Parts: sequence; structure tokens; C-alpha cells
Amino acid sequence: MSKMRDESVKCPDCNESMVFVVWDSLNADLSPAAKEQLLDGTLFSVTCAKCQKKSQVHYPLLYHDMKNKLMIQLALSDEDAEVFKEITSSKGDDPAASIIESMKDYKYRLVFDSDDLREKAMIFSHGFDDRVIEIMKLLASLVFEDKHPGSTVTTAFFYDKPEYMIQMFIKGGGIAEHTSIMSMYDDFKNQYQAMIEEKSKNRIVIDREWAESVMSNIS
Ligand SMILES: [Zn+2]
Repeated sequence: MSKMRDESVKCPDCNESMVFVVWDSLNADLSPAAKEQLLDGTLFSVTCAKCQKKSQVHYPLLYHDMKNKLMIQLALSDEDAEVFKEITSSKGDDPAASIIESMKDYKYRLVFDSDDLREKAMIFSHGFDDRVIEIMKLLASLVFEDKHPGSTVTTAFFYDKPEYMIQMFIKGGGIAEHTSIMSMYDDFKNQYQAMIEEKSKNRIVIDREWAESVMSNIS
């Protein structure tokens, strides 16, 4: 089920009141239009009718993709994160446990930024494994920094247009793209599968730090 409500927000530029749709939970299969908005990056943005300025609205959201058996919580506070951790790890007579039991082979992810939620949703919608992608992002970043001494990759994202790629944001400005690395996806997946499974047991945060812990075991 999707759960949404209208909320009034103020334009940060001209203070005009605007109505913004807040999705407390977004079911990708039942609300495909909202899923598309998440993927194209417009779900969290609002345009002021008076001054036309675009701004971002931040709020916690639970993303549910039934087709890919996936739940992602976007948490903006420790409290949001704790609630999700409890739900995904609860056992015994907790009423939530029965839900979890029926969703045993589900993947759960916890993210702290709407860009990360968007990226994870995108990765899974293309049938990729975010754990493999996270390792590829790390490797692409290390390769880039090796080729360009003195440069630092601050963040890297999987992106799907015009083709699959790893997009890297460079400290001080600039974006670098690594497309050919995606042709190695299957090899990566097969090569690191066992390590990935072992390292991701009961893990709901799959990020660069996690990828680093995997790679430190490999090299
Ligand atoms: Zn405005």
C-alpha cells in the first residue's frame, strides 16, 4: 500500500505557500507514476507557482518494491533509522514479526539521503545487485584517483542514462563517468558472490564503507 498526504510548505525564496505531496510510504508497483518521479529525481522537488524557483523537500519515506522484493527506508533521523532496524530484525511475538516472516527473502536497505534512495531504487529496477554496484563504484573511484593524482572522488552513483555507468563527483567540481566498468558486472558478481553474501548478512546499510570492508578482505 502507498500512503500519501498533502502538506503545505513555504517557498524558501518568496515565502509563498505551496501544496506538496508527501509519501510516507511508496509502493512502486501500485504507484508507478510516483516511482517514475523518484527515479527521475522530481519526487522531492517542488516548483513555486509564484516565483518559479525549484526547491527540495526532505522527509522520511519507506519505499516498497514488491516485484523485486525490496524495502528501502529513507531515514532523516536516528529515530527513523531505529524504527526500521527494529522492524527488520524483530522476532518472536512482535506483530511485525509475522510480516517479516512472510517477507523472509526480502532485501532491506537503510539510506540517509534522498539521492541514495533514488539510486538504490534505480539499481534494483534494472535488476542489478546494489552490493555488486557498491563495490564497482569503489573500484571506479580508486581507478580514477589513481589515474588523476591529487583528485578525490567525493561521491559516486550508479546512473542509467544514456547507458549504465558509474558517475563520480570530483572534489572541487566536475563529474567523471565510467561506462565500460559496467560490462564487467557479471564477472564481478560471480567473482565476489561468496564474500558479498558473507559480508552482507543482517546488513541493511550497503554503502562505500561496506564496500571497503569487503575489498579489504579480498586484496
Ligand atoms: Zn517562490
